[in-house]
Amino acid sequence: MNVIGNAFEEIEDIVGTKYVTDSEPICYSYSMNCDTVLQGIPEIVVKPSSSEEVAGILKVANKYKIKVIPRGGGADLTGGAKPIGDGGIIVDITRMNQILDVDEKNHIVTVECGISWSELCAQLKKVGVGYYTGSTGPGSGFSATIGGGLSNNTLGGGGAAMYGNVTEQCVGLEVVLPTGEIIYTGAKANSFCKKPFTRFGLGPDYSGLFLGDVGIHGIKTQASLKLYPIPEYAAYSTYEINDNQDRKEYIKVMKVMQRWQQKHLPLHDYYYYTKGYTKLLTTFQIKKNLANMGVEGSVMFYTTVADTQKELENSVEQIEGIAEKGGLSKLGETVEEGNLGKWFYEEDGRWQWAHIYWGLYGPEGTSLGTCLKCPTYQLPDYIQLYEDWANRNREKFWSVGGGGANFIVIGCHPCYIDVTGGITLHTDIKNRKIYYELWEDLLLSQIKDLGAIHYWMGEIIGKTLVDSGALSKEYYDFMISVKKALDPKGIMSPGKFYLNRAYGGGV
Ligand SMILES: Cc1cc2nc3c(=O)[nH]c(=O)nc-3n(C[C@H](O)[C@H](O)[C@H](O)COP(=O)(O)OP(=O)(O)OC[C@H]3O[C@@H](n4cnc5c(N)ncnc54)[C@H](O)[C@@H]3O)c2cc1C
Repeated sequence: MNVIGNAFEEIEDIVGTKYVTDSEPICYSYSMNCDTVLQGIPEIVVKPSSSEEVAGILKVANKYKIKVIPRGGGADLTGGAKPIGDGGIIVDITRMNQILDVDEKNHIVTVECGISWSELCAQLKKVGVGYYTGSTGPGSGFSATIGGGLSNNTLGGGGAAMYGNVTEQCVGLEVVLPTGEIIYTGAKANSFCKKPFTRFGLGPDYSGLFLGDVGIHGIKTQASLKLYPIPEYAAYSTYEINDNQDRKEYIKVMKVMQRWQQKHLPLHDYYYYTKGYTKLLTTFQIKKNLANMGVEGSVMFYTTVADTQKELENSVEQIEGIAEKGGLSKLGETVEEGNLGKWFYEEDGRWQWAHIYWGLYGPEGTSLGTCLKCPTYQLPDYIQLYEDWANRNREKFWSVGGGGANFIVIGCHPCYIDVTGGITLHTDIKNRKIYYELWEDLLLSQIKDLGAIHYWMGEIIGKTLVDSGALSKEYYDFMISVKKALDPKGIMSPGKFYLNRAYGGGV
């Protein structure tokens, strides 16, 4: 029997026949994410039910030197949760989806990493006074998991302006190392400590080694996150901005954000949709609202929360005073009157806003997108960069079924903003190489011209980061040393950041 056959049998002994397969159609269905990155078909797909089973699988993978790719909801947009090149084992952890502990005294929830953000939040709402995790995952939170979010350094599904990336809410992890050992990080690394409550202490912040690592350092099986009572009071407003001159409009929006930032106003969420994206919303998703309102410009909304009515009124007065002074026109209060902020906060808009963008063309559609952090003053330059990219590649886009370019701000923190954007396409597998080239072109401009700080890496962004020369030799060597210390045989997602080269090549 060949190596894969032997590994399959040993994994079958660990998880049982029902939860491992080498069936071609199933392996094929795990060969892509929600993106256009080149396919990679695994040889085995396994769905473990415990950390011990994950450990056993990794020991088998080490024994036979087979690559392993951790996978949560598979909602990655950059090819992260599928093999780079064919072959390997996909470890799908979505069966590990339990809430293990809600510690109301310390305000910490501990979960298995395969639970989705929307499920976790729905369950937390029913506990005690009703809780949530502050930053509640990505826009894909109906399917994306805690493990995927922590590995991708996610934000965008609510609470991001106030609480930052989900990784900032993490106080400790259980990780299965590539060699199969199980470790805790954070307070639980002290075996006498009963409950996780802080990430720091006991030496370096080892949780940080695994947060945002896109699965190259191990498989996260449990995570402890901070817990917050659902705020009693919330407010939201949406504005239209319609300026003849686009750049003037971007500067207007940027100035309002900067004033909010300077005053440290308690924004819970912040979004800005340029005209192109707003047009998509009016044409497709919530046309009954924005379209009927006759909205033709771009829109911007905020949400804010408070513990008392007085506190809320005070925040709203300050936030809206700045918006009004900045020359923005407020839409009505109800969702029907165009209040996207209310839709976002109250009606699961936080987990739906992105669907129109990535799902515009239905199952055949996809998008070349990126999420990144940038200093607020760079907002007009980023929008310009997207437009230049779209203009420079217009003919190529049309030749492969591309629609218009989109750009959105999805977070406003005290000292920077989060932005996302790209282009929607009718996907066709034969054009994947062209998509890859177009996308690389955008990434290289972002990284080189504006010093972009991306936070999902997947296959394409991690590789482009290396190709661009952005990482110094010393930094990249350090990355390799850490990787080799944790994963001596190079089995965990080896092609990301071209780390496979450090083991003598091969994907
Ligand atoms: C409609 C839509 C909207 C989106 N909105 C956002 C957004 O607002 N913000 C944002 O940041 N992203 C967004 N994304 C991208 C993506 O869905 C998220 O980054 C999400 O967090 C991925 O979670 P997942 O469980 O699907 O992970 P996967 O896609 O399964 O995996 C993502 C990466 O993490 C690794 N990984 C997964 N689980 C583990 C684990 N347990 N241990 C170690 N490594 C692991 C994988 O190998 C892969 O590299 C969106 C995607 C779509 C399709």
